[in-house]
Amino acid sequence: MPKLENIVLVGASGRMGRCIQALAEEEGLSVQACATRPKFQLPEIRVPHASVLIDFSHSTVTHSLAEELEARAPYAPPLLVGTTGLLPETVKTLRSCAERRACLLASNFSLGMTLLRACVRLLAARLPASFGTEIVEIHHRHKRDRPSGTAQSLRQEIQGARRRENEPADSQDQSPFNTGLHSLRLGSFAGEHQVIFAGEGENLRLIHQAENRQIFARGALYAARWILGRDPGLYSMEDVFDL
Ligand code: NAD
Repeated sequence: MPKLENIVLVGASGRMGRCIQALAEEEGLSVQACATRPKFQLPEIRVPHASVLIDFSHSTVTHSLAEELEARAPYAPPLLVGTTGLLPETVKTLRSCAERRACLLASNFSLGMTLLRACVRLLAARLPASFGTEIVEIHHRHKRDRPSGTAQSLRQEIQGARRRENEPADSQDQSPFNTGLHSLRLGSFAGEHQVIFAGEGENLRLIHQAENRQIFARGALYAARWILGRDPGLYSMEDVFDL
């Protein structure tokens, strides 16, 4: 496996971008910031064989990035996307990019959340259908998208695990398992997600609290080292942690 030397960072001036840059530099990696204003522009990549592109920006910027990568075949480094609130057409373009390079999309790069998702899948698959589920997420007041990408991916996990074989998805949407999403935006919360499974006389609550942004930055750098040299394809954090 090649060794990671350089990060090409999209959204470098943002909260997450600054946090990734600080951590990457502490770890002896060099960081190339990618201009996003007035127009997205991919720079000439200094160490093509040892670089990973990391995007924590905005859905419109991620869309331009995906289009640029699709056009710039055959070579561009592997890509990690942490931006949330992506448009369906962006996800489609990223899927097509993943045919030529390794791409990883994660609405939450933390190890704790990746494991919580695995627990949610297990509970959703094993608990009786009479258990209702709700998701509550709390983020700082500057977060633009709601519900969070993580809350949406948790709901998909629940619906996927509860979808019985041979039953059309439409009928599931009207089932009592329909999972409500509740979003709160206040203060400086880095991010909290709570998944509640409630039945008659007992309930389970799984809570993940992000105390600071460093957990996402650390997860992103861990994933960057993992993805370098991988075959083309669309990966997730479950692949990184072999779940
Ligand atoms: P931020 O607002 O602090 O920074 C956003 C960055 O994108 C800045 O560099 C800004 O200049 C650029 N940008 C934003 N809108 C733009 C536009 N219209 N045109 C050009 N450039 C633009 O945001 P943040 O807190 O750093 O979060 C960035 C993204 O990462 C968000 O989508 C957030 O939800 C997501 N996020 C993901 C994770 C994860 O683990 N996947 C964790 C935290 C945040």
